Amino acid sequence: MILVFLGPPGVGKGTQAKLLSEKKKIAHISTGDMLRAAIVAGADLGKRVKAVMDSGQLVSDDLIIELIDHRVMEADCANGYILDGFPRTIAQAEALERLLKKLNKKLTAVLYFDLLEQELLNRLAGRREQEARADDNLEVQKERLRVYKNNTESLIDFYRKKEKLKTIEAVGTVEEVLEKVQAVLK
Ligand code: AMP
Repeated sequence: MILVFLGPPGVGKGTQAKLLSEKKKIAHISTGDMLRAAIVAGADLGKRVKAVMDSGQLVSDDLIIELIDHRVMEADCANGYILDGFPRTIAQAEALERLLKKLNKKLTAVLYFDLLEQELLNRLAGRREQEARADDNLEVQKERLRVYKNNTESLIDFYRKKEKLKTIEAVGTVEEVLEKVQAVLK
């Protein structure tokens, strides 16, 4: 099973990806987590991406694609994986298509987590209080939402045209949304 979790920042797709990956015993690949880990480790990669991440912009397609190309080759991906936060641009989606073709694999589905903008803003406010992430102050969150609309939202149509898209209304408790996720995958 190879899944893409798509949706705006703050919609809760990371939480859902984590829970579903545990239930299905497949890997959870969060490009954001990978980049943050590289920053914490003081790795070269981390040094290259920190300023861009802190500003809410996207890091370069080439860098992210290389990261994914390597990551999906790791042993824990053999049963499948959930891509959380990738792809974020059409160029990344096309690179993913090439990668899967090369590996003779097919994308199972793209789950699009949909939520009203006001609800999204409420959740982002909650996250600011709880997590104190350097890239989660109000201005950066607004920027990330703008970047999402400009770069990532077009992937909804991209995958709808390929008949891969399944929409999840991301309202309700974490458990309720997880039920919906499992229902669309049946
Ligand atoms: P996330 O945790 O998914 O919200 O990602 C945090 C930050 O990492 C983003 O704001 C980007 O700067 C960077 N990032 C994560 N995934 C990608 C991606 N697929 N393409 C470009 N930048 C990314």
